[in-house]
Amino acid sequence: MARYTGPVCRICRRENQKLFLKGDRCMTEKCAFERRGYPPGQHGHGRIKFSEYAVQLREKQKLKRLYGLIENQFHSYFVRAERMKGVTGSNLLSMLERRLDNVAYRMGLASSRSQARLVVTHGHVEVNGKSVDIPSYLVKKGDTVILREKSQKITTILASLESAKSKEAPQWLEVDRASFKASIKDLPTKDDITVPVEERLVVELYSK
Ligand code: SF4
Repeated sequence: MARYTGPVCRICRRENQKLFLKGDRCMTEKCAFERRGYPPGQHGHGRIKFSEYAVQLREKQKLKRLYGLIENQFHSYFVRAERMKGVTGSNLLSMLERRLDNVAYRMGLASSRSQARLVVTHGHVEVNGKSVDIPSYLVKKGDTVILREKSQKITTILASLESAKSKEAPQWLEVDRASFKASIKDLPTKDDITVPVEERLVVELYSK
């Protein structure tokens, strides 16, 4: 299955909540969910009764799209989470959050995860002093992520850092925006992750 290339705002409308997938635009009146806060399609205005399966499916789709993944990638995270010690849902969230593109987003190097993916794939970040251009790279406790020196003058990145000043970095990351750097203080736990998803429903869906 290919990466989702359709209208991004349609995802928020489908999930019936703002998922902030377009960065700064999401805060403006141009936000499609603000203008048309009902599901897309000809039945969008009607009352839709969801089955238990549909509720679980929507939650999985939401989580998958929040992190910009395709089905196969997402499912393989689930399989890995299931094999790990602890609670599968929390393991899944923790792994998704540890992706390098998400870390770049949390650092404020980009205003959305999709932009952060580009920041990583274009080779703008280093992990522990080495260039890493793999968005799915999972950071570990003690790692240091830094914006490469030659990238520290890119205007879009500087603009993102500026608008990220008002946002607090998550507890598990020690972010020093002035020096374009973040250290992984600890692995993220469920309590540190504020994505609007009930991961329990995702686990239930895959456990059927
Ligand atoms: Fe969602 Fe952002 Fe589009 Fe609004 S602008 S619908 S929050 S992606």
